Amino acid sequence: MEHFDVAIVGGGSAGLAALRQLSNLGKQAVLIEAGKTVGSKNISGGILYSKKLKNGKVYNVEDVYGKDFLSEAPIERLITKYILHATSKDKVFSIDLTRAHEYQANFGYSVLLNKLNSWFAKEAEESAEKQGGGIISGVHVQSLSWQHQQQQQQQNDRVIINTNELEEFEVKAIIAADGVNSEIAELTGIRHKFSPDELYQGVKVVVKLPEEIIEQRFQIGPNEGVAHLFAGDITMNHIGGGFVYTNRDTLSIGAVYHYDSLMENPTEPYVLVNTLLSNPMVREFIKDEVAIKEEIDKNLPKEEQLRTRFAVSKLIKTWEELRHTYYSPSGRAKLIENGKYKSSEEIKARLDFIHKELSSKYGTRFVTDYIELEYSAKLVPDGKRCRMKKPYYKNILFIGDAAGRGIFIGPRIEGLNVGIDDAVRAANAVARSIDRNNFSPNYMGEFYSQLVEDSPYTRDMKEIDKDYLKVFLDAAKDVPKDIVGSRYGMIFKLMSSGTFRGLAVGFANMLGYDRLLPLIESEETYVQVPIEIAEKLGSRVSSSYAPSIPTLAQRIARLKYDDDSVSHIKVLDPKSEFMKKMVILCPTKCYITENNKVMLQHEGCIECGTCAKDTEWRHPRGEKGINYQYG
Ligand SMILES: Cc1cc2nc3c(=O)[nH]c(=O)nc-3n(C[C@H](O)[C@H](O)[C@H](O)COP(=O)(O)OP(=O)(O)OC[C@H]3O[C@@H](n4cnc5c(N)ncnc54)[C@H](O)[C@@H]3O)c2cc1C
Ligand code: SF4
Repeated sequence: MEHFDVAIVGGGSAGLAALRQLSNLGKQAVLIEAGKTVGSKNISGGILYSKKLKNGKVYNVEDVYGKDFLSEAPIERLITKYILHATSKDKVFSIDLTRAHEYQANFGYSVLLNKLNSWFAKEAEESAEKQGGGIISGVHVQSLSWQHQQQQQQQNDRVIINTNELEEFEVKAIIAADGVNSEIAELTGIRHKFSPDELYQGVKVVVKLPEEIIEQRFQIGPNEGVAHLFAGDITMNHIGGGFVYTNRDTLSIGAVYHYDSLMENPTEPYVLVNTLLSNPMVREFIKDEVAIKEEIDKNLPKEEQLRTRFAVSKLIKTWEELRHTYYSPSGRAKLIENGKYKSSEEIKARLDFIHKELSSKYGTRFVTDYIELEYSAKLVPDGKRCRMKKPYYKNILFIGDAAGRGIFIGPRIEGLNVGIDDAVRAANAVARSIDRNNFSPNYMGEFYSQLVEDSPYTRDMKEIDKDYLKVFLDAAKDVPKDIVGSRYGMIFKLMSSGTFRGLAVGFANMLGYDRLLPLIESEETYVQVPIEIAEKLGSRVSSSYAPSIPTLAQRIARLKYDDDSVSHIKVLDPKSEFMKKMVILCPTKCYITENNKVMLQHEGCIECGTCAKDTEWRHPRGEKGINYQYG
């Protein structure tokens, strides 16, 4: 049987950071990832933060990957504006939250996880190979067992890892980075499956938009980006909100809602994201010039019809690609450099020529619409409610989403940076254990648990930060206090005074976050108050086109899967109320009802985890299942 010092299960941003950190410390580790390639199973909003917290050190992405991270990693745009919009029909009231976004931050970059995690993997693997470790993708960890050592050596019980794809192998310690629906957590019984009150469901689409059009439309410079958040009627009465983030030449658009509120008022995830896409402000953000093929004359001979169809499709593709390249400074430079064109004007002239040819010769229409590239969904653990208090079991340490960690409160949406911080702490604990040859729970697990407890992020999951609250309230100072109603009037008044704020927050923290959360995270905060603000103070935003939002079937057809004939999910009680809700809440409609029984068609599953609570839920076998292209 093969032996390694450490195995990391899961190659998301957390697991990859653990591999890199262990390798930086000169330790051998292998990372096992179920996806065909690293990055193909991961999705995020997402903004990746680097933080400098006043209450102590956190480990940031650049601590793990080095100073060159910013110049070399495929990050999208540096977020320089952060704006919250309260919406009601066509009215929008906007609050500039840039200072809240900059609060204790070195930077926040928009990212797409397929690209970014692939880069992390390349960097981590390079370091790992020097220590005799590496990354094995396309392998799904199926079960674990313990190889007991002699009585006096019990602190060094080895774990035997069983996978669907490889011979079993043995390690001294495991870092479980296998995400929100951690099978390692389930196999060890260390924690319960997260329940709806501990989770959010996130659903997202990636929209194509040329680079310079993004810059013009969002009034940002090259490399700069903006984050727009939404609350109010776009939530369809759920607790949470929407987001639009600018990437280099795409937009990430999504809706993240508390799973509890989705259970209470079940609404299809695609409907929630469609509602956001239909908001007039968002419609204006996503619009672009789109070519629509004209029907081909059916009286033409069949061969001629085929030839024309092929010629039109090819020409439209050429036009789309050239246009996308033309609106990118680096794209134009590349075309000129490789001698295809002499100048930008020449590229523009070619574009205009194709445009004219398409419309005059083939009747192609050019309309205002938008282009969607990818639909995705995933559960997000609400760290305030479900972070593991003791994130270890025997010689296994849990990090990131697997440990239920993340800061999601109001406009603060942070899972990636928290997972990276956990990863460094776990790697440091494991490295110390390797040096002392002691992997016992008391030595390694307790030490890691303390390191995590000491992380300022943990404090942010437990307490209100009064300075952050001040920044937030200052941003909202133009909202008349009477609008926020009797419930919030008093809170606003108290919080607006420096002296009272300190006392009030102190008192609130004494009361405990748990008791405050229902007040903060209520329909009133996310739905009613924003609607009232938009109606009373908002400006009208108009948009003169209706986006052709793809149907769910079209969205699924665009996704890439490696189908597995064997289902990775088993329905336990097809008549339960929970399963009936899954018929609505599954983002790809994998559940249907027949004769009052809920049935699963696993082929369209995108592994979001929404149905995991009351099913026998596993990730698919290695390489199988969804392969996200953007993430
Ligand atoms: C819509 C949305 C918006 C978000 N926005 C933000 C944001 O703006 N900023 C932010 O910081 N965070 C955001 N988050 C949260 C953030 O994306 C997550 O916290 C983060 O991606 C989790 O990383 P992870 O490595 O812990 O887990 P994951 O990325 O889930 O990785 C787990 C990996 O483990 C693998 N795996 C699982 N089981 C096994 C097994 N048995 N064997 C082998 N491999 C296995 C999976 O294939 C997967 O690759 C958002 C999340 C969502 C869904
Ligand atoms: S079957 Fe379950 S895990 Fe798969 S997409 Fe539907 S809800 Fe998500």
